[in-house]
Amino acid sequence: MLESNIALSELAMQAREELRSNFGVASTLAAAAPGRVNLIGEHIDYCDGFVLPLAIERYIVIAARPNDSTVARIGATGLNPIELDLSDRQEIGEPKWSNYLRGVIQGFMELNYAIPGFDAFIVSSVPLGAGLSSSAALECCFATLLEGLVDTVLPTQEKALLAQKSEHDFACVPCGIMDQFASTFGVKDQLILIDCHSGEPEMVPFSDPSLSIMVANTNVSHDLSDGGYGARRKDTEDGLTLIGKESWRDVTMNEVYAEREEMGDRIFRRSRHVVTEITRTIEAVEAFKKGDFSNIGTLMAGSHRSLRDDFEVSCDELDLMVGLAKEIGFEGGVLGARMTGGGFGGSTVTLCRTADVEKIAAQMHQRYQAQTGITPLLFATRPAAGAHLL
Ligand code: ADP
Ligand code: MG
Repeated sequence: MLESNIALSELAMQAREELRSNFGVASTLAAAAPGRVNLIGEHIDYCDGFVLPLAIERYIVIAARPNDSTVARIGATGLNPIELDLSDRQEIGEPKWSNYLRGVIQGFMELNYAIPGFDAFIVSSVPLGAGLSSSAALECCFATLLEGLVDTVLPTQEKALLAQKSEHDFACVPCGIMDQFASTFGVKDQLILIDCHSGEPEMVPFSDPSLSIMVANTNVSHDLSDGGYGARRKDTEDGLTLIGKESWRDVTMNEVYAEREEMGDRIFRRSRHVVTEITRTIEAVEAFKKGDFSNIGTLMAGSHRSLRDDFEVSCDELDLMVGLAKEIGFEGGVLGARMTGGGFGGSTVTLCRTADVEKIAAQMHQRYQAQTGITPLLFATRPAAGAHLL
């Protein structure tokens, strides 16, 4: 069962209505920012690698109105509203979700912007904690709203880095640059190739209507993810130190093999993932540019295996979902499938023929539910526009 994506205009209307019913005011500005899904290049944004995400047709929208005070009153669906004092330095605080916003406010303060008081309401169609980066969507949407409130436009890269800094310093998640870059740089019908060494994005067209990207949220998230992400980063740092290079970009598989004994099995496998995933991503970009989709499936399958066996960030449910797509196979319209995002639960991404996507989703939904007892969420998307004022 393929769930349809709620139109951005509809979501914006919801945000405005919520602002009115919760704070009794009509909105004067609204911002939107999308979640993202990564096609290939996983866990290598923090290793100077290449990643190939796209912004998805799932958004966070914030509607707001200045309130003639020095306080931000912010509501969000299903959460108690918060109040943030805009006249003072921001600190980490409760509730947890407020920290994504506190960090962005602090970022603007450090750029010497005085933010006027405002009321705001947040609505979203990005599933939370599903590996689709609702956190980056929230930061980037809020940063875009603040741009509107202080009447400025930051360079896109600067805005993305400000949002990432908020996630690092306030949400205490040491993420790479992929999520915030995808949420801010997204363009309709374009994949975003990010060179995480130079920090430069390059657009790769994805406009063939006969191809669709399907996301399958397993609806599981394992507690491991907390320490797991940091531990993987540490492993890759240790691997690079043993190899004795400045950047993973300059490391060959021969150099990894040369240090195999010194590294021990775990660091060796982590290192092998980084080097082979960088290669796979470069090859996938070439394939997309040439329209040669026969190779994409092999590359996505290789990426999944490497994440499962070498990087150990998959889980049974992700493996099952990818296996179900593989079972349907090329004849059934599946060109490739893999886990996407940080792992330990979350979502898979499947490249499908558009004509078959409904049928593929129905089968995967039914079989996944039958085997796990968990209802998954499946939706199709095309590359969407990044953060913008509405
Ligand atoms: P992911 O980014 O993969 O969705 P994270 O755990 O990084 O998962 O981020 C999810 C967190 O982001 C939520 O627990 C919440 O704190 C915050 N968040 C995301 N979307 C919203 C929203 N619409 N309203 C309030 N907080 C949100
Ligand atoms: Mg996140």
